[in-house]
Amino acid sequence: MTTNGSQLTKYASSMASAGLDRINISLDSLKIDRFRELTRNGDLNTVLAGIEAANKAGFKRIKLNAVIMKGRNEDEIIDLARFAINHDLDITYIEEMPLGQVSHARDESYCSSDEVLAELKTVFELQPSVTNTGGPSRYYQVAGTNSKIGFISPHSHNFCESCNRVRVTTEGRLLLCLGQEHSVDLRDIIRRYPEDSERLKQAIIDSMSIKPEGHDFNIESEAVIKRHMSVTGG
Ligand code: SF4
Repeated sequence: MTTNGSQLTKYASSMASAGLDRINISLDSLKIDRFRELTRNGDLNTVLAGIEAANKAGFKRIKLNAVIMKGRNEDEIIDLARFAINHDLDITYIEEMPLGQVSHARDESYCSSDEVLAELKTVFELQPSVTNTGGPSRYYQVAGTNSKIGFISPHSHNFCESCNRVRVTTEGRLLLCLGQEHSVDLRDIIRRYPEDSERLKQAIIDSMSIKPEGHDFNIESEAVIKRHMSVTGG
């Protein structure tokens, strides 16, 4: 599950006991004001308390997700990695995806994974890792720690050809690609056929035939997908 972490103090422990074993928590800044600005109204301390609660709840692995943008938070690349390492967490750095309307120029804020990796290597010893979570991240082990650092690079290293990811939104929509609108309304099926789990399973299987080949992201033009990342989760 991917979360902004704002409700974890309340729900981390019940989600872990319900069988959820891995979560991703978005954390783009460790500065209170900047965090509020980037998330539009988020409270950093609430999220940090949520991360603490998740750590105590006993998830198998917790990963932080940080979208790095020039002129906004690229000066926190090292601090975010240190935070993850000190809390025994993994962290993935993500190139900003052109989803939804924003007020900044995406080609100016674009920070490639290679730039982030180069900066991290000035401080940490990173060993390429064979870890594969079934998703698009490339991982490095931070030598002498339990933490891994990952990179999701939709622009510089397009990974669509190996993508097996689908996502369920909070409205029960099975979204087959972050960069497209192909989806199946699972909530509708559950409401119409509440007792028929076979029908639901078949709808999920059938949906794979419309999974798109990939995105049409272009940071130099207007976003083609109006849906913000926060609607879907990472
Ligand atoms: S853009 Fe779509 S196909 Fe490409 S990696 Fe993301 S979800 Fe997968």
